[in-house]
Amino acid sequence: MRIVDPHIHMQSRTTDDYRVMAEAGIAAVCEPAFWPGVDRQFPETHLDYFNLLTTFEPARAAKRGIRHFAFLGVNPKESENVELAEKVLARIDPYLDRPTCLGMGEIGLNRNTDAEVAMLRRQLVMAAERKVLCIIHTPHGAQKPRGTEIIADVIRQVDPPRNLAVIDHCVRDTLDVALATGCWCGLTVYPGKLSPEEAAALIRDRGPERMLLNSSADWEDSDPLAVLVTVGVMREMAMPESVIDRIVWHNPTEFLGQNPKFKRQLSA
Ligand SMILES: [Zn+2]
Repeated sequence: MRIVDPHIHMQSRTTDDYRVMAEAGIAAVCEPAFWPGVDRQFPETHLDYFNLLTTFEPARAAKRGIRHFAFLGVNPKESENVELAEKVLARIDPYLDRPTCLGMGEIGLNRNTDAEVAMLRRQLVMAAERKVLCIIHTPHGAQKPRGTEIIADVIRQVDPPRNLAVIDHCVRDTLDVALATGCWCGLTVYPGKLSPEEAAALIRDRGPERMLLNSSADWEDSDPLAVLVTVGVMREMAMPESVIDRIVWHNPTEFLGQNPKFKRQLSA
């Protein structure tokens, strides 16, 4: 079984995780830039992080047989500091041009504030202008339905190529709004988001069309093998192998393969 995890924060994980993931059939991972646990104070701190995600991390992954790709941007939580965010975006292009960077992310919303919406719009425009992929984070818990609606509105206003964007961390209540935009939809198996059983049931009920499955594993309680665990649950549910292969391999390689860097690195 070959697997792509299209959203995972490997910088927060150990090299042992990489080894176990490679054993489990995970051939490639995508790491979007996110919040490190405290707000960054300087634009350069973001830029150093972008440098790490496009040099050290792909090399650490490759040594264990996994291809590592990055998505770069200012995450929603840190979009509140507009002045700092603008300084980061003014200097992001050389990092977006790196050979393993596939696009912008994770952009999106956290508390649905005006500053977050403005920075989502700004980065969605940037990604569309550059014709790169983007990963859009939807808020946690009670903020998620409203946040997903706002994201859908911004997408309709900005009108980016829908194939290039994924609205991530969808749940049963928000999936219809996300799918109606025409973008890809991400399901995240992570405590407080979806259990493996809930994700498997959603794929069974809605079909695998335009759906991606990820772990979003990071420095919190989370599982870098969450996609594999969900494969086990889908098999227990007697879902066809063709559907399972589509969700963990065909779909992510189709989505990510829209950026030619993906296939270039995968076959390297
Ligand atoms: Zn994430």
